[in-house]
Amino acid sequence: MRTVEGGRVPIRMWADPDSIEDAALGQLRNASNLPWIHGVAVMPDVHYGKGATVGSVLAMRDAVSPAAVGVDIGCGMSAVRTSLTAADLPDDLGRLRRRIESAVPVGFAMHETPVNPDRVPGTGGWDDFWARFAELHPDVQSLRERARRQIGSLGGGNHFIEVCLEQGGEDAGRVWLMLHSGSRGIGNELAKRHIDAARGLPHNADLPDPDLAVFVADTPEMAAYRGDLFWAQEYAARNRATMVALVQSALAEVVPGTRFDEPISCHHNYVAEETFDGVDVLVTRKGAIRAGSGEMGIIPGSMGTGSYIVRGLGNPESFRSASHGAGRRMSRRKAKKTFSADDLAAQTAGVECRKDGAVVDEIPSAYKDIDAVIRAQRDLVEVVAQLKQVVCVKG
Ligand code: 5GP
Ligand code: MN
Ligand code: MN
Repeated sequence: MRTVEGGRVPIRMWADPDSIEDAALGQLRNASNLPWIHGVAVMPDVHYGKGATVGSVLAMRDAVSPAAVGVDIGCGMSAVRTSLTAADLPDDLGRLRRRIESAVPVGFAMHETPVNPDRVPGTGGWDDFWARFAELHPDVQSLRERARRQIGSLGGGNHFIEVCLEQGGEDAGRVWLMLHSGSRGIGNELAKRHIDAARGLPHNADLPDPDLAVFVADTPEMAAYRGDLFWAQEYAARNRATMVALVQSALAEVVPGTRFDEPISCHHNYVAEETFDGVDVLVTRKGAIRAGSGEMGIIPGSMGTGSYIVRGLGNPESFRSASHGAGRRMSRRKAKKTFSADDLAAQTAGVECRKDGAVVDEIPSAYKDIDAVIRAQRDLVEVVAQLKQVVCVKG
């Protein structure tokens, strides 16, 4: 870990400062100068993001910046170890992929036949969950409808569902399911409203970047944000749990008798109330996971390079956090200009997945080297399993 001094608190870096874009460094400096700041930790997958970098952790006293959570509140990963090994999978992985694609609605669109979560085994408490949203937004029927229609759906972009094989070790060939998704349109809508609301507050008038605006404790704006935030985080967790159940059923249809361990689930865009050195802080992890001692986490690489299941080492220096992925090395626009569908096909050889021009921005070369990112955080997490996908369903 290196530190960069100069702000109210040092910036603790698990990334090479020379490899970080100037714009991202500027954002980290802005964060380290906030009056409420208690600490800043920078993960090896860091890159520029709106208002605050992706791949960073901010700990603040009595304040929270909604842009430092990100617009997909509660976005994160789930993973499940199955009873299968590679030999149990069908030769025709296309069939398995199509089965998953018909079990889970994917893409940005509103879905014709929404998932009814009441019928999905393993999840419950929906009535109370929807009632809590109705209490937060009594007048806005349309928001409630949207939230209900999109539960159990993947979303677009880099949200994905994968069937993976464990690499090396005693359990080589073990089949895992993995899934990346968040709080869909409803979380995005709520996040944007609050980011806009924060910009207009007088205590944010002198910020160098208006997008880093914060809510402060004991204000109605903070109370409204917290209500929506914690509800949307639960929505994201429920969304992933619903899809995990659907994907498990899809796999069990293709390979009858498949059994599943308890899923691992971790948010990587969220807020938690935690205590460090006796100080109560609001910790925002934007493109970062919690890596408390013994806590399981998931660090995905890209659609062609596989992923890691990790266990946290509880290092307080990073505010018990680790990276959320490999992180982008190239913007979506640049990736589309630089690479072709043929390049994508070459980089995803052996993976049953989309290889058309519309997903070229997700090409593995657009992401950092996941193995290097894992090596850079050896004092934050230990590797439990290395996975490589054989099926990848993109949103
Ligand atoms: P984000 O949450 O910032 O959108 O992305 C999470 C991380 O997932 C990225 O930094 C990248 O390393 C990883 N990733 C993106 N697409 C895929 C994919 O299709 N499969 C896997 N295994 N990882 C991916
Ligand atoms: Mn997301
Ligand atoms: Mn995400």
